[in-house]
Amino acid sequence: MRLDTTGKLLSVIIPAYNEELMIQKAAETIHTILENEKIPHELLFVNDGSSDGTWGQISALSQTESWMKGICFSRNFGKEAAMFAGMYYAAGDCCVLIDCDLQHPPQKIVEMYRLWEQGYEVIEAVKTDRGKENPLHTLAAACFYSMISKATGMDMSRASDFKLLDRKAVTVLLNIREKNAFFRALSSWIGFRTTQVEFEVQERTAGTSKWSTMSLVRYAVSNISSFSTAPMQLVTLLGVVMLVFSVLLGISTLYDKFTGIAPEGFTTVIIVQLFTGSIIMMSLGLIGYYISRIYEEVKGRPRFVVAETSGEVEEKPQLS
Ligand code: UDP
Ligand code: MG
Repeated sequence: MRLDTTGKLLSVIIPAYNEELMIQKAAETIHTILENEKIPHELLFVNDGSSDGTWGQISALSQTESWMKGICFSRNFGKEAAMFAGMYYAAGDCCVLIDCDLQHPPQKIVEMYRLWEQGYEVIEAVKTDRGKENPLHTLAAACFYSMISKATGMDMSRASDFKLLDRKAVTVLLNIREKNAFFRALSSWIGFRTTQVEFEVQERTAGTSKWSTMSLVRYAVSNISSFSTAPMQLVTLLGVVMLVFSVLLGISTLYDKFTGIAPEGFTTVIIVQLFTGSIIMMSLGLIGYYISRIYEEVKGRPRFVVAETSGEVEEKPQLS
């Protein structure tokens, strides 16, 4: 909906997974802020296969409010898929991606929109701190971000999914065929006139985080492998180390043989066998993992399946 013909439409994309307690609050907070600033906007909620009343809340609100729109997935496809779906259906000249739990302060949208008006095409909100987390998570996150920063060549340690993207950047992202892309890194990778704003991660006011430790580990591994083949090269390195090791052991074994104390080496043989065996298995697993990623991309299944929409969402063919 265009409230003002001079301003350009801003689409606010909000992925929501089991967030029934937050929908109304998030929608009203964001709408009020943008309304006060006279920024023409639409709010596009993407229900990522929630099992609670999230979709009911979204569709009810979009019956009465013309700025409210909703897309409902057929099942849970994950936050990255929800963000892509939002960008696909967004009608705006620029899109903001923001979490439903208001941990990304919505007031920042205004600042980001003003920067966009000045001509910036990608505005990234970076965290000044990581909010409250358990120390193990902080440590794991530090390891993950140092690896992913090396792999992408960009500093990702403070990156978040809270971003404003110009229509141009959105089109480029939608045209990238890679299905298992790491959105946070990909949106920096595309380039464009980029700037940053800082924000403090807020406390979640309702509901719980949707990430279990295991899902975070899976997310980390998948993102590292989508930006880097370094783990595969690690296998080669291990091979070299093993070779050096076996040459040394070989020499020592031959020495033993010629000095007539050969049977002594039996323990070594077992150790070497176990060691080589485990490294080969690890390496095969790693290669298998990359092959499975290739397989997934090659299958070319869609990133998400939309079951229904609510509000004035434009009809679009299924994105492949
Ligand atoms: N989310 C989603 N699909 C999922 C998991 C999460 O759309 O499978 C959404 C969730 O509703 C929220 C945002 O992604 O709007 C961030 O999730 P959460 O707050 O659980 O993550 P955290 O802030 O703990 O990183
Ligand atoms: Mg959160």
